[in-house]
Amino acid sequence: MSKLPHIGTSIFTIMSKMATEYNAINLSQGFPNFQVDERLTDIVAKLAKQNVHQYLPMSGYPPLLSKIAILVKNSYGRAIQPETELLITAGATQAIFTTIQALVEINDEVIILDPSYDCYEAPVLLCNANPVRVSLNDDYTPNWDRIEKACNWKTKMIIINNPHNPTGKILNGSDFKILELLLEKYPKITLLSDEVYEYITFDEKHISAHSREKLLHRCVMVSSFGKSFHVTGWKIGYLVAPEYLMKEIKKVHQFLVFSVNSICQVAISEYLDLVSVNEIRSFYEEKRNYFRQLLQGSKFELMPCEGTYFQVASYASISDINDVDFCKWLIVEHGVAAIPISIFHADGKDLKLIRFCFAKNNDTLEAAAKRLCAIQ
Ligand code: PMP
Ligand code: GLN
Repeated sequence: MSKLPHIGTSIFTIMSKMATEYNAINLSQGFPNFQVDERLTDIVAKLAKQNVHQYLPMSGYPPLLSKIAILVKNSYGRAIQPETELLITAGATQAIFTTIQALVEINDEVIILDPSYDCYEAPVLLCNANPVRVSLNDDYTPNWDRIEKACNWKTKMIIINNPHNPTGKILNGSDFKILELLLEKYPKITLLSDEVYEYITFDEKHISAHSREKLLHRCVMVSSFGKSFHVTGWKIGYLVAPEYLMKEIKKVHQFLVFSVNSICQVAISEYLDLVSVNEIRSFYEEKRNYFRQLLQGSKFELMPCEGTYFQVASYASISDINDVDFCKWLIVEHGVAAIPISIFHADGKDLKLIRFCFAKNNDTLEAAAKRLCAIQ
């Protein structure tokens, strides 16, 4: 008996474990391998000796809530009420799980766009609701006709992920206009906007759900400090929701975690005084450009990367085996770990594409690229 019969071990666990076993360079699971800013680790060291080790208020450390409200205002011009519209969560994963548990009811439908990040489906299934997987176009833009066809009176939520993991695509202004028109037709649908890579976009500016007046009263927006400050292991993020939705979300949050890790909240609150989130944009843009340049001489064909720290590549001119087997072969024979893209499709669609994480120091990127370029 299983409540989630089709859900197996996450591909990130599988590939990272295999990378360790074979001593491969791990470009699979998305996490940085460089040092965290010393100013942040110094704050943590200082705080460890202070009295910051007990429960914080359920919604979050009040100074952190105020600073996030300022961050959102500065980034998108949106004024949020920290007491009623903001919640600190144990990473974006908990924010997403909690939101779905709080808002989705039995037999509801939730639209998920494929390829999709792996943490959306299971919470929907645990509500005895139905995930409706709708494929993006081949160039990973949303297929709005298909999305509209999938909407009906049972649709409770649409989940978007922008910038998009695994493809690195971002949504543009016309996508948002179509989405807004669609949501006008279906007033019961809530939008869940996963924007954990909101500060990692390159050639075009990120358009956040925060900046869309028509979405604010029906959107839950999720972010993660793990991405913005290179501390994925801290598992700390936040969500912003209108008060009527937040009331329900907090009912679940208080019995899932009650409150989030105190020392990390205080540390991030202090760090926000020292740092600009915009610094990471140029940091990762350089990494993206460098990694793409390093792979120029390889047989991999690189897809566009507009945001996130992931580069999707086609291996079609190297092999025609399926992408899961290709990733295993890549680890065993060439010592580089990547993620197969078919895993992010409900139907397992295999387009001979894999994902590399370039949130790595240059030595690692160079060593990996050398191995990848040697593949004929
Ligand atoms: N959404 C997306 C698109 C992600 O890539 C990730 C993690 N990399 C998460 C959510 C989860 O973030 P967190 O680690 O803060 O839970
Ligand atoms: N989000 C990370 C990625 O896409 C993985 C996080 C995890 O391991 N759950 O690689």
